[in-house]
Amino acid sequence: MSTVDGADAFRTSGRVVIVGASLAGLRAAETLRTEGFTGRLTLIGEEPYEPYDRPPLSKQVLLGRTRDGSTTLPRDCALDAEWRLGVRAVGLDLTTGRVRLAGGEEIPFDRLLIATGTRARPWPNAAEAALDGVCLLRTRDDTTRLQQALAARPRRVLVVGAGFTGSEVASVCRKLGLPVTVTERSATPLAGALGGRIGAVAAQMQREHGVDLRCGVTVTSLEGDADGHVRRAHLDDGTTVDVDVAVIALGSIRNTEWLRGSGLAAGPWGVACDAGCRAFDMFGIVTDDVFAAGDVARCPHPLFGSEFLALEHWSNAIEQAKVAAHNMVTGQGRRRPDLHVPTFWSYQFGVGIKSVGVPPAGEDVVVVQGSTDERRFVALYGRRGRTVAAVAFNQGKWLDHYEEQIEMAAPFPPRTLNVDQPSSRTAVPAEFPDPAVPTEGPRVVLTGHSPTERQWTYVPAPR
Ligand SMILES: Cc1cc2nc3c(=O)[nH]c(=O)nc-3n(C[C@H](O)[C@H](O)[C@H](O)COP(=O)(O)OP(=O)(O)OC[C@H]3O[C@@H](n4cnc5c(N)ncnc54)[C@H](O)[C@@H]3O)c2cc1C
Repeated sequence: MSTVDGADAFRTSGRVVIVGASLAGLRAAETLRTEGFTGRLTLIGEEPYEPYDRPPLSKQVLLGRTRDGSTTLPRDCALDAEWRLGVRAVGLDLTTGRVRLAGGEEIPFDRLLIATGTRARPWPNAAEAALDGVCLLRTRDDTTRLQQALAARPRRVLVVGAGFTGSEVASVCRKLGLPVTVTERSATPLAGALGGRIGAVAAQMQREHGVDLRCGVTVTSLEGDADGHVRRAHLDDGTTVDVDVAVIALGSIRNTEWLRGSGLAAGPWGVACDAGCRAFDMFGIVTDDVFAAGDVARCPHPLFGSEFLALEHWSNAIEQAKVAAHNMVTGQGRRRPDLHVPTFWSYQFGVGIKSVGVPPAGEDVVVVQGSTDERRFVALYGRRGRTVAAVAFNQGKWLDHYEEQIEMAAPFPPRTLNVDQPSSRTAVPAEFPDPAVPTEGPRVVLTGHSPTERQWTYVPAPR
């Protein structure tokens, strides 16, 4: 595929194409330039905007505290790149090294970064999804629509799905003084991300702030009025809720459809990569010139038994982008793996929630500092005698310490004494939902071999 031989020649006259012009795409482009890549650089992005930050969308922006335009990501260096914004990549030909754009144009590359992220999972019934007042929250445009819907002072907002996004939207609604009902199929909010034990604390927080939280239920249909505006939700427990806005927060779908037929190991669980972000082909053979980073990537992590992790976290997008870009411009022997310990944060109901490590990798959980009643605590997650994650509610300052513990595979339950230690430190089951039961979905997916890869049929190369 490559038209440029040798790492040095590639550095000066190679062509890199990045598909997905958001956080991972931008940070990878910057790293390429700071690591001395002076060749041609093209960023292709479906959205018409320059890369912007998503975390504020469900927090300050929705609350009206930040204008959405101000979340445009700062640039660390002059990029000297060709920007193709507002255009979608629809195909990839690995044999000729070309990305096909909607409209038919083909963009050649020597090295490609796939950074197409995820999109919000829509409401499954298309007619109901099209009702006025039914909103998603992933993009800047989604946020503008939802802001307008909330500004109309709806009688009640329904949030379907109590993961991080749904919970943050509910928190904003309460801050705006709007009545809100949250429905969640699991037993608690945040169950997929933090387990039912810690999720129970999140449930108390929601109820204390006046959220009508209904767990263990499913919304079966949304009903509109004669003008096509959502007015009622039907639940599987036989109840109905009268609403004027329904926010669908059912997790996300990885943007891999454009790679169908390319021969890459790409499917609903993401683009499978090695620890250095190099993409695998459908036979599990690593490619030399195709990399993936961010929400769309699925990489083995040495700290977690080299299990494939697909992480939808801001810091992960940045770290993988740097690793992928470094490995793009670096020869054999100087490439590096992505070893960062995953982190995540959320802000809801006046509480800063931060995690380090991979909570869903844990089987048991123990509160090691503070008090869950006071919403000020640190809990550790463990698997097979090792500490694999920590979550802090309003206690983020301790997480650097626990990050080290996770990196050192510290024993679980912990043997050391802690500041502000509760009287009892008994580890209990973390209560993550059965992965077979669909829920809002965690922001971390632990996967083995992807069954989707079996869809590929082997076509022997012509002799
Ligand atoms: C509302 C919200 C709140 C969040 N809050 C937090 C938080 O508090 N903490 C945290 O750690 N993380 C948070 N996140 C997650 C974080 O924003 C993501 O992990 C991060 O945006 C991932 O960056 P990315 O570049 O990999 O993917 P994305 O940001 O999803 O970007 C992918 C880009 O690729 C484009 N694209 C897709 N397909 C194509 C195609 N075929 N052709 C061209 N372009 C394409 C998309 O339009 C998009 O612009 C939040 C996310 C959202 C949506």
